[in-house]
Amino acid sequence: MVTGGAPLQDVLADLRASGRPSLSFEFFPPRDDAGEGVLWESLRRVEALEPTFVSVTYGAGGSTRDRTVRATRAVARETTMSPVAHLTCVSASRAELRRVVGEYADAGVSSVLALRGDPPGGPGTPWERHPQGLGTALELVELLRSLGGFTVGVAAFPHRHPESADAEQDARVLALKARAGASFAVTQLFYEARLWTELVDRAAGHGCDIPVLPGLMAITSLKQVPVFAKLSGAPVPPPLVARLEAAQRSGGDAEVRRVGVEATAELGAELLEAGAPGLHLYTLNRSSASLEVVRALGLRDEDRTAAAVRAVPAQAGASQAGASQTGATPAGTAHPVPAAP
Ligand code: FAD
Repeated sequence: MVTGGAPLQDVLADLRASGRPSLSFEFFPPRDDAGEGVLWESLRRVEALEPTFVSVTYGAGGSTRDRTVRATRAVARETTMSPVAHLTCVSASRAELRRVVGEYADAGVSSVLALRGDPPGGPGTPWERHPQGLGTALELVELLRSLGGFTVGVAAFPHRHPESADAEQDARVLALKARAGASFAVTQLFYEARLWTELVDRAAGHGCDIPVLPGLMAITSLKQVPVFAKLSGAPVPPPLVARLEAAQRSGGDAEVRRVGVEATAELGAELLEAGAPGLHLYTLNRSSASLEVVRALGLRDEDRTAAAVRAVPAQAGASQAGASQTGATPAGTAHPVPAAP
């Protein structure tokens, strides 16, 4: 089945005008056949909920990148969902970036999340642009817009990006990316609704009014707390950690998982109440907890959501966050992307 329909920027604009929240899920390309099975099981579950889009992360290293292209192409061709392909500037010349963009276009992918990527030496090391490549996501937005035909999204940071001097810089850069042609943004994960509101207000001060989709991920085991702190770039709020610890004492792993999902649903409700245009759920390819968040919020038809939740058995303390599984790196802006092979 080929995905057709309106460009994503129009879909998001229509949702915004009607007040209906967008719903999207993020996946990473599988490393092997077993991973492929897990990915496709999750994709089929979320497909039943008719998400606005699903996005596929882009890793470091050639074969990882090829897998991103393949997985995104498969979503475009074999599901009813709109894929958003991530693309980074890491270790790529302009010509290589154009080639990947061409592959996406050939595959029927019309939406790209334009990212700079973390420094090739790992987060915390200085960023080095490829000699013939690009230095910022802003330049990648400009490249994509010059090639035409793509809805372009960008990253946004409720916690300060570690290379930014302050939150104001993050807001200014987001506004620059919007002015260059980005029509939506997805945030790094975070756990306090006020951070999203502050970012959006600051960006509005710079004339930016594109939809900024909050990126959420449920903490489903206490072991994930330090991992998620590194991913989000800030400590998990102490009241949430205390709540999870109390759950562990009272009901063990299953209760931690239940409370983690509940807390994420509460955060989602607060964000939607505050005017967020939708929610973007990081799945790490296991959609179970994300689907439970959708169900708790009543974002989709209850029968369909209940069926999708039932189809993915709950796994107490399951590897929704396994850093080893995702190749997540231990510094601030690390994103749950696949490791290089
Ligand atoms: P940029 O917007 O270029 O910003 C990087 C730094 O440069 C910031 O400090 C910014 O303030 C500064 N800067 C940029 N332009 C200017 C300017 N004109 N003036 C002054 N300062 C400027 N990484 C992957 O490798 N693969 C993925 O698939 C992936 N997916 C992601 C998805 C989301 C939703 C998010 C939030 C992050 C993702 N990342 C991914 C991680 C991302 O690549 C890193 O966080 C990276 O360090 C920053 O990328 P960026 O696109 O925000 O870069």
